[in-house]
Amino acid sequence: MKRDDQQIKQWLATRKQQHLYRSTHLLSTPQQPRMTVDGKPTLSFCSNDYLGLANHPQIITALTTAAQRYGVGAGASHLVNGHSLEHQKLEQALAEFTGREAALLFSTGYMANIGAVTTLMARNDSIFEDRLNHASLLDAGLLSGARLIRYRHNDMDNLSQKLRRDTATNRMLLSDGVFSMDGDIASIPELVSLSQQYQAWLMIDDAHGFGVLGKQGGGVLETTGSSQQDVPLLMATLGKAVGVSGAFIAGSHDHIELLKQLARTWIYTTAMPPAVAAACRQSLTLIRQESWRREKLAALIQQFKEGAKVKGLPLLPSETPIQPVLIKNNQAALAISHDLFEQGIMVTAIRPPTVPTHTARLRITLSASHSQKDIEKLLEALGYCLDKSPLPE
Ligand SMILES: *Cc1c(COP(=O)(O)O)cnc(C)c1O
Repeated sequence: MKRDDQQIKQWLATRKQQHLYRSTHLLSTPQQPRMTVDGKPTLSFCSNDYLGLANHPQIITALTTAAQRYGVGAGASHLVNGHSLEHQKLEQALAEFTGREAALLFSTGYMANIGAVTTLMARNDSIFEDRLNHASLLDAGLLSGARLIRYRHNDMDNLSQKLRRDTATNRMLLSDGVFSMDGDIASIPELVSLSQQYQAWLMIDDAHGFGVLGKQGGGVLETTGSSQQDVPLLMATLGKAVGVSGAFIAGSHDHIELLKQLARTWIYTTAMPPAVAAACRQSLTLIRQESWRREKLAALIQQFKEGAKVKGLPLLPSETPIQPVLIKNNQAALAISHDLFEQGIMVTAIRPPTVPTHTARLRITLSASHSQKDIEKLLEALGYCLDKSPLPE
């Protein structure tokens, strides 16, 4: 965009007309179902705090205790002198939890994806990505300079065809584990076998599965029993079900060492505060021990899906806490979201370019901290809004 005030004003105005303008809401309470948003009490269904840990007293205590001991800022990058005992302990805990040899902490998932992909891939290499992959995986692919080949969503025949035609010597298959805007799950066993057949790297971004899926909360790879050999690179975030902040890559000792030598988003940035690492480790313990959170969440998901079916809501096929209601039209999605907010229910409208055109949706996310009553309220409000203004075709 050119530096021209008039042009910028015009661009912003057009964006509003197209119902694509983005703006933040102001929270004045912790992340939990009942929160104050823009000064108004609401019941929220849009956070990624799937297990209700973002405001857990034991995690708060772990954070404050570690802050008393280690202070606030890490003060430097990991390689200079910012790597604290708390980081070390968390990396070990994550490696053990995921059944990998080692893990490496990053400050955000966005940075973890960019760091890993740009370390392993370069010009003349080929990266195969699901069309609905998260923006950070697409950006990572672009930044690496490799050829970016996008296959149809979860379509393994399409991927297989594209692999057959490719001539690169270094290849990577890259996919979300649980798709962030659709809630469906990648075909992990097929990805594993294609990666072996074509000797390609396989990296799974389990931002939305980690903590939520699997008996232990180990994520999508726990449900498929995929080992480090099957999926050499596992990425997950610590800001979603874990309820804190940050991310990690888990894999073999040598792969992690390679990242430490080359991943620029790990090398050239300040380490996360040690207290944040301590909070993550406490959360990990709760994730493992309190399987009731996953069980309760599963029951709420069933309740929502059944209720939505009775009301004829256009749900996408998803078994995860991400339950999108497909509205298609941007303006309608935004209007329903506003309408719900008027009734004290917060659900975000997700529009292009976050999702493909004509697939605007209400992205409902459920959490173990919701109650059955909350789900009833949500269903009632959705039914009311959709009856009042039936969806345009
Ligand atoms: C949220 C998300 C990320 C980014 O993680 P942050 O820690 O929030 O930067 C990466 N991948 C997927 C699939 C995500 O949903």
